[in-house]
Amino acid sequence: MRVVVKVGSSVLIDNDKLSVERIGKLVDFLQDLHQNHEVILVSSGAVAAGHTVVPTLSNKTTADKQALAAVGQTVLIRKYRKKFEEHNIHVAQLLLTKDDFQSFAHSENAKTAINTLLENKIVPIINENDCVVVDELLRGDNDFLSAQVTEYFGGDLLIILSDIDGYYDKNPREFSDAKILKVVSEIPKEELEQENTPNFEFATGGIVTKLKAADFLMKNGKKMFLTTGFELSHAKDFIDGQENYKGTLFC
Ligand code: ADP
Repeated sequence: MRVVVKVGSSVLIDNDKLSVERIGKLVDFLQDLHQNHEVILVSSGAVAAGHTVVPTLSNKTTADKQALAAVGQTVLIRKYRKKFEEHNIHVAQLLLTKDDFQSFAHSENAKTAINTLLENKIVPIINENDCVVVDELLRGDNDFLSAQVTEYFGGDLLIILSDIDGYYDKNPREFSDAKILKVVSEIPKEELEQENTPNFEFATGGIVTKLKAADFLMKNGKKMFLTTGFELSHAKDFIDGQENYKGTLFC
């Protein structure tokens, strides 16, 4: 199976700093997955990682955010590379934009590169090219990009590792009686049109961008699993086919 794993900033950042411990746990999970599956990682976190290196740049203006993303991307990839090397796994970096998927030539070229990397057991690490797509840097998240990666690069499943353990019938941070939905096969139009509700300074997406990603994949006959990135045994349970997994399967 070709699995795309997307990890949100809120999972990678702890106390305003890129958490080496969380990256370590994520890489342990990914290398385990890599034993039996092809793995593509889509990682956020560049802006926040940049902020830990150059705190004088704020994350308030677009120009500063672009600069932070450019600085932080090098920090992020270095940490991943170091961790993956402990498992003798090589990584590759691809910076893409959603426009790349509007161009047949671009997406086919990228797919060829991805296929070659995966055939050679190299883990591609993808992030949005934040310097060229400013609107996405401000509004979006990697949620939709990771859905495009799944669709256009032949993924079978997208796993989104978030700060929340699934999709609830209402916002669980506002309603204590919110219930997690185990399987979702259709998302009402009004849910897709909600305001973004990120739960964190560096988060930009909130649940809506995840729902849009799920909607896109389901319309293309693909699956998405949303679960927590803080306790990776839940994602592992799902991959292992356990029925009492914790998370939401969109299919
Ligand atoms: P990430 O950084 O992991 O991408 P976000 O903070 O952007 O995560 O999005 C997840 C957040 O969306 C949750 O922590 C929660 O505050 C909010 N949210 C709003 N409505 C819902 C809902 N119905 N189910 C789950 N989360 C919701």
